[in-house]
Amino acid sequence: MIGEHDVLVVGAGCAGMRAAIAAQDAGADVAMISKLHPTRSHSGAAEGGINAALGNAADDSPETHAYDTVKGSDYLGDQDSIELFTAEAPGDIYQLENWGAVFSRREDGRLAQRPFGAAGSPRTVFAADITGHVLIQVLYEQVCKRDIKVYEEFFAWQLVLNDGRCQGVICWDLMNGGLKTVGGKTVVLATGGAGRQYRVTTNAYACTGDGMAMALQAGVPLKDMEFMQFHPTTLYPSGILLTEGCRGEGAYLINKDGERFMKRYAPNALELASRDVVSRSEQTEIDAGRGINGSVMLDMRHLGADRIIERLPGSRELSMTFAGVDPIFDPVPVRPGAHYHMGGVETGNDGATELTGLYAAGECACVSVHGANRLGGNSLMETITFGRRAGTAAAEWALSHTTIDIPASAERDAERKLKELLDRTSGERPWKIREELGESMLENFAVFRREEQMVRQVEILEDLRERYKSVYVEDKGEVFNSDLTQAIELGNMLDTALCMVMAGIVRKESRGAHSRPYDYPTRDDEHFLHHSIVYWRDGGPELSTKEVRFTKWEPEERKY
Ligand SMILES: Cc1cc2nc3c(=O)[nH]c(=O)nc-3n(C[C@H](O)[C@H](O)[C@H](O)COP(=O)(O)OP(=O)(O)OC[C@H]3O[C@@H](n4cnc5c(N)ncnc54)[C@H](O)[C@@H]3O)c2cc1C
Repeated sequence: MIGEHDVLVVGAGCAGMRAAIAAQDAGADVAMISKLHPTRSHSGAAEGGINAALGNAADDSPETHAYDTVKGSDYLGDQDSIELFTAEAPGDIYQLENWGAVFSRREDGRLAQRPFGAAGSPRTVFAADITGHVLIQVLYEQVCKRDIKVYEEFFAWQLVLNDGRCQGVICWDLMNGGLKTVGGKTVVLATGGAGRQYRVTTNAYACTGDGMAMALQAGVPLKDMEFMQFHPTTLYPSGILLTEGCRGEGAYLINKDGERFMKRYAPNALELASRDVVSRSEQTEIDAGRGINGSVMLDMRHLGADRIIERLPGSRELSMTFAGVDPIFDPVPVRPGAHYHMGGVETGNDGATELTGLYAAGECACVSVHGANRLGGNSLMETITFGRRAGTAAAEWALSHTTIDIPASAERDAERKLKELLDRTSGERPWKIREELGESMLENFAVFRREEQMVRQVEILEDLRERYKSVYVEDKGEVFNSDLTQAIELGNMLDTALCMVMAGIVRKESRGAHSRPYDYPTRDDEHFLHHSIVYWRDGGPELSTKEVRFTKWEPEERKY
């Protein structure tokens, strides 16, 4: 074991850093493990903003924010978690501001707020369209100020369980090679999403669901895994995101005939309907032959050059660099792309999982605030509010428990498993399996889902998992062996993808991002108003359900 800490946070994006700061402030000795340098974490790519009911642009309240979130979640979000979230969000925003986050401002000096999809009031606080970049820098400054140790470029591979609780993490040291174990009285998973399961995604290469898979293998359940959000505006062909902030600033979606087609699908909310609705509308247009090269167009021309340059400079640059289009003069081709996992490691409101000593926060967790469909701007807020809560709770538990005991057998087993993988002299290369995973998930488990395609996808995944058993890592080196880590990431993506599709098959309704227009086109509250729970048992997913927690909002039909 190379180190022991009260709280060990795995992941150094917004959720991980916020958790680490809170844990340190609660008096714990804290360290973070990250396969990337913290400021390279994917949170840095977030563009459009972060939601809190400050009421700076129009009347707003935490209660309205909670109602919008409940409705957006298609009534699958846990309402006590949502109310707590929206009540604490404003304080968390002001904390970030006090730490130096350079949010965009109104003329009167207060923080500016822009409209986002399915929000009853303009409540998205933003820093132009580089909000994630700003947040990650501010949080990293606070991490440095507190001198929190970071095991940087350490790839977390397995959780160490002993005496019925989580007591550490076994990692591969990317820079120097070799397995290294770090002990923690508590461990907080904050490893982000898994969008790389899909060929077209807004997610970075590092978003491979490692934390979800580690928890699953440690016997901890994942929740609501079938709900993968497809973002309506990803650039064709790269899949790079153009923020919802573009539509928040007033951009239109048009089809090949120049028609503003959202008028037909969501006459009131138009382009600012919730993401599931907009993605489905786009896909319907594309499938009906009213798209161009499998895309529709995002039209910003009427916003004018000044507004685009001031409010959406990053989106303009991305459009010019990756689609060859300047949005000041031409519409930009966009289509739905895999974006965000609503599901993840099941936690309570303080990030605690079923396993003593293990916590989770951020995109890898499922509290559940987002239910079946996340509202834009709520995810960054979740990383901050629930990152803070998880860090504090993990510190409190750690400070009242004193021992860390890593059994030698855990390290020996990991060494043996690694040797077995690296000793192979032939077999299938990981990239081949990874490509088939990405392509097939896009084909069979995307915006619209059909029973026969999902069943087929389970067969494909079982086949890929079988082939994965003899995957061949060609690079036997110690230093930056990305061949090895990509092989491990692939295993994580295959396991979590199987959980998603199997949960999708049994949910015989359409709710939020899970849309089955061909056999179960409507929401079925009588039979499916529950969370999906997946355990990993006997080498595969075992499904069950859990009640959704309600406070005051009864399910009602969604209208746009
Ligand atoms: C392009 C884009 C734009 C977005 N824009 C917005 C927005 O405007 N507003 C909003 O609310 N949401 C937005 N989102 C969603 C939001 O940004 C993410 O959900 C959120 O930032 C995730 O934060 P996180 O801390 O949970 O994970 P991440 O920021 O992804 O961090 C994960 C961390 O875990 C580490 N890690 C992962 N696996 C391992 C491992 N095996 N070992 C060690 N370390 C590991 C990584 O190194 C990293 O430090 C956007 C998402 C994308 C993709």
